[in-house]
Amino acid sequence: MKSPILADFMWEIAAIENEAMGAIQALRGTRDILPAEVGYWQKVEAVVREILGKASYREIRTPIFELTSLFERGIGEATDVVGKEMYSFQSRGKKPYSMTLRPEGTAGVVRAYIEQKLHTAGGVQRLWYTGPMFRYERPQAGRQRQFHQVGVEVLGTADPRADVEAIAIATDILQTLGLKNLQLDLNSVGNSEDRQRYREALIAYLTPYQGELDPDSQDRLTRNPLRILDSKDKRTGEIVQDAPKLGDYLCDDSKRHFERVQNLLTQLGIPYQLNHRLVRGLDYYSHTAFEIISDDLGAQATVCGGGRYDNLVSQLGGPETPAVGWAIGLERLIILLQELDTLPQSPLDFYVVSRGEQAEENALVLAQKLRHAGFSAEVDLSGSAFGKQFKRGDRSGAAACLILGDEEAQNQTVQLKWLATGEQKAMTQADLLAKPDELRQQLQTPNP
Ligand code: ATP
Ligand code: MG
Repeated sequence: MKSPILADFMWEIAAIENEAMGAIQALRGTRDILPAEVGYWQKVEAVVREILGKASYREIRTPIFELTSLFERGIGEATDVVGKEMYSFQSRGKKPYSMTLRPEGTAGVVRAYIEQKLHTAGGVQRLWYTGPMFRYERPQAGRQRQFHQVGVEVLGTADPRADVEAIAIATDILQTLGLKNLQLDLNSVGNSEDRQRYREALIAYLTPYQGELDPDSQDRLTRNPLRILDSKDKRTGEIVQDAPKLGDYLCDDSKRHFERVQNLLTQLGIPYQLNHRLVRGLDYYSHTAFEIISDDLGAQATVCGGGRYDNLVSQLGGPETPAVGWAIGLERLIILLQELDTLPQSPLDFYVVSRGEQAEENALVLAQKLRHAGFSAEVDLSGSAFGKQFKRGDRSGAAACLILGDEEAQNQTVQLKWLATGEQKAMTQADLLAKPDELRQQLQTPNP
């Protein structure tokens, strides 16, 4: 495994060489989503929109950059995200301040909730967002520096039903998309007093092993010891096996919350697995923490991560507001979707070929009229011979070709050729457009 610093250095050398030759390449850790792939994204977006809409979640769009201090205070200085992964820079202007490309969505949504006084509406706010996030990480499959998330935040209720509603919606989205081999891991990280007591017990247990822990975990021992629980290091993992369990440090209220969450999941028929090492990366979580993991993703296995965060709103200066949310990593989701290979082709009704100035102009007008009548139509703009245009028409996947030559343009007629059968007939353009419903029916039958 190359170190990220070495990999970055090599990338920079290659980029400089390329630039010297006049080529500019995309930045490391970013990707172009090309038309061949974008259908998967649109499918995900459509499913997300539909499922969240049905559950009364409303979309919110917040800025992509925010004050750095929002993330420092919101996510926590001891986390990887704030400590090592943020893209921060000085603003412009006379009094520059530090700003950051958002590494996640929750902090911005909560900032907006407080600033725009969404809490004064009373009751529960169910919000969702989607968009790019930015983290300085080692790029690999399912891990980028610009990546995308869709997420929900349910603000204003401590009820365990909200935790379960949110989990059920995440499960629904993934299932509707046809994903299999998913596992829901569940834990409770209690309230802050529970965690404080547990933290002390964990430090006491781990301190004698300090020298044997991996360097990251040694670093975390005093700053953020809970994170040691989900270390990927083998020896650290062995040591942690016998560590005290967070579940044994929950107070009665926390236990009751967690039991209700489990009970409701069972009632909704959502299988889960308890994972007492699941603590999640960000500081703001309390009570329920969960991840949805796929067997088909290799090292970057977590598709969805979330949990309850009862202290974040007040920590950012808002009123006491319990909340719960999750975020799905869209790149990882799309990797799984592509493995299923279920992308429907968007069908084309007409491929319009034409030759000669008058016919070419007429083709443009006819295609526009067809679109206004609800059909899809693509005009061949190549100006090449009919033979070549026909070939492209065959490859286009259209149901039919419309052919316009000098004669058709003169008489306002058109040749209609069904590509499935090769059957061809002449008609007036007016007739073609006269009965759109009939035409639509013909397009839908395989052998019109
Ligand atoms: P990981 O342990 O994989 O670094 P995380 O705990 O940092 O994940 P969260 O902050 O919980 O991730 O973000 C929620 C989801 O966003 C993750 O489960 C993952 O699917 C996705 N995600 C996070 N970071 C990246 C990234 N750098 N590239 C692509 N997807 C990401
Ligand atoms: Mg991470």
